[in-house]
Amino acid sequence: MDIHLDIHQFPCLNDNYGYLVHEPASGQTVAVDTPDAERYLGEAAGRGWTINEIWNTHWHPDHAGGNLRIKEATGCRIVGPAGEAAKIPGLDLAVKQGDTLELGGAKAHVLDVPGHTLGHVAFHFPHQHAAFVGDSVFALGCGRVFEGTMEMMWNSLNRIKALPKETRLYCAHEYTASNAKFAVSIEPENKALKEYVAWIEKRRAEDLPTVPALLERELATNPFLRADLQIMQIAMGHPGDAVATFGEIRGRKDKF
Ligand code: ZN
Ligand code: FE
Repeated sequence: MDIHLDIHQFPCLNDNYGYLVHEPASGQTVAVDTPDAERYLGEAAGRGWTINEIWNTHWHPDHAGGNLRIKEATGCRIVGPAGEAAKIPGLDLAVKQGDTLELGGAKAHVLDVPGHTLGHVAFHFPHQHAAFVGDSVFALGCGRVFEGTMEMMWNSLNRIKALPKETRLYCAHEYTASNAKFAVSIEPENKALKEYVAWIEKRRAEDLPTVPALLERELATNPFLRADLQIMQIAMGHPGDAVATFGEIRGRKDKF
């Protein structure tokens, strides 16, 4: 049975997105990450929703910084990555790859997607074709590899690539316009990328979000997801080596 979820997306801090996921029949609401506690509490109150749970993707303060304030205000349960449990304020339940969570009967699978941080997780609602991916993958980008290795991050991106292509990726930041400039520098002849960039420019000119990102479109355009393609490997100087190709692209982006 497909359960409908209301996904409320709103800008937070400088360039984060906040997400409240609500299941109307049960009245249950999950806050995905907590960049700004007051903003989350206000957005929930404005809809008549109460935050029952927080699901953290990783420990960075723009993702877990509002945990304790929201827990204090609502008594919510805090769910977060087992791989960095000690760094998640107020954690009640640690989850990892293979675990399943529930929101009013809608199932979410936990994916381990380390690299940006060592315990980073994503939450995938298979029936709703929605994945909350934090800072693992962005529209036309991916997270900086702060704690893990390039190989670890590439394996994590492969986990996301393996989701059904109609999956919408609810990324944690609006970085798309600057990511697009970089992507064009890597694949100037990619026709799907050119079309995507035109759409992005239009959206941003109207101050509209480019997130969520459709996985199918990302597979055709996001350079970080394309390191297994021979054409990309040759262009980056690492034929036959997806990890080195990914590392080359990530290194170029860090200096871009
Ligand atoms: Zn982060
Ligand atoms: Fe972040």
